[in-house]
Amino acid sequence: MSQNIMRDDSALSIEKSIEGRRAIRFNKINDDSISIDIPDNFLRKTKPHLPQLSELDAVRHFTKLSRRSFSLDTHFYPLGSCTMKYNPKINEDISMFEGFANLHPFCADSSAQGTLEMLYDAEKILCEICGMDAMTLQPAAGAHSEFTGALIAKAYFEKKGEKQRTEIIVPDSAHGTNPATAVMLGFNTVNIKSNADGQIDLAALKAAVSDKTAVLMLTVPNTLGIFEFEIEEITRIAHEAGALVYMDGANFNALMGIIKPGNFGIDIMHLNMHKTFSTPHGGGGPGAGAIGVTKLLEEFLPYPRIVKENDEFKIKEDYPNSIGKIKAYFGNVGVHLKAYAYLLMHSKENLGEVAKNAIINANYLLKKLKKIYPAYCDDYCMHECVLTPAKDLTANKVKTLDIGKRLLDYGFHAPTVYFPLIVHEAIMIEPTETESKETLDLFIEAMEKIFEEGKNNPQIVKTAPHTLCVKRLDEVAAARKPNVKWKNQLGNSAVSQKLM
Ligand SMILES: *Cc1c(COP(=O)(O)O)cnc(C)c1O
Repeated sequence: MSQNIMRDDSALSIEKSIEGRRAIRFNKINDDSISIDIPDNFLRKTKPHLPQLSELDAVRHFTKLSRRSFSLDTHFYPLGSCTMKYNPKINEDISMFEGFANLHPFCADSSAQGTLEMLYDAEKILCEICGMDAMTLQPAAGAHSEFTGALIAKAYFEKKGEKQRTEIIVPDSAHGTNPATAVMLGFNTVNIKSNADGQIDLAALKAAVSDKTAVLMLTVPNTLGIFEFEIEEITRIAHEAGALVYMDGANFNALMGIIKPGNFGIDIMHLNMHKTFSTPHGGGGPGAGAIGVTKLLEEFLPYPRIVKENDEFKIKEDYPNSIGKIKAYFGNVGVHLKAYAYLLMHSKENLGEVAKNAIINANYLLKKLKKIYPAYCDDYCMHECVLTPAKDLTANKVKTLDIGKRLLDYGFHAPTVYFPLIVHEAIMIEPTETESKETLDLFIEAMEKIFEEGKNNPQIVKTAPHTLCVKRLDEVAAARKPNVKWKNQLGNSAVSQKLM
């Protein structure tokens, strides 16, 4: 186990190996007719240094280890900006349907009609709920969608002969991937500050736009969990300067079914299938993105695109003004399949309910907690709220990190902390739409207890967690120099033994 972490070595000690103990023992075969000729240099010369355990010990060990993890299936996961919502289990089964999962990417269009129809239809539904004219499901993730969208903008201005448009305006409340995307494509980023309400400052925006502006890139809702009230005026100002407006819609679960971005002047937008449409964010599996555009920009979309001709679905690659290919084959089809099932399951009408519940849950937490955890914007929020530790806590040097760690003792995954960067000691909470009032009340109760502790007995918060096997990690070392190999008492790792 990693030496980077401190652990209690009690009941769940990792070192269980006892010389000579084992699970099953095979009988030696005394049958001369069976002879296997293994070349000498492939024969092991020394015994492998593996842990020696009974089967029961091994099974119990791993089962206990698995229970130490926090997961969506076991704990409330209020990670802001990540939308760890409930993702119906049935969609996991659907994504493994053989006809989809075993399809060869090079098979003829005629043999892939089901997959092509599913992708085609998913594009159409997403276009409708976004108010966009065309969509591609090619991007592999949110940031990859941004990259694709910005390439489309670049191609558009090149065709228009406006190569002087080299700037992307990014408010300071944008997700960090937005300016990173702009820089990766060689644009200069122009940062504009938010006002005290967490909204874009219109005067600052007017001063920033010019004939050099290619794109105004907005995260909606922004990372403060706020919707821009002046969105129509904002997109008007950008358009008047000849720029395009890009919307980072990664957190579209706050808006879907309520508003259509195409109706308030968005030219390009992306969605995160993981986060909004039934694929968990994180956990190592693939995600998927989608890019929607208005008619004006459709010709620049990446290929292949799926078209319907005479009731047959076809893959088309012949788009002379396209930015080209951005992903192999058809994108992450399994993820889109889950999204498609989710869209059909809810219907366009009910998607609005999902968004409303996400907003209600976040505002419930905000209202209940803002007295003891002052909010950056305490009016109301969208799907997430940004809180901070109160003076009673900061006076005792209790920090956001300590609160996050103490929540683990109370059985809650920590919220997102220290993000967005523009809020000092930010605690960013996104309850998602599927959490019950009972769960939210337990979370509120834990936050209230932590507040009292921080005020009266701060040491207990500052040294948390106390109930987990892992205390405070050296997080940088754990990420940069992970050491997850089992080593025997001699310090030999099982996998690095020489075989010859
Ligand atoms: C998560 C997120 C992204 C990045 O998405 P990835 O799939 O992780 O690349 C971009 N913008 C916002 C607002 C996000 O929440």
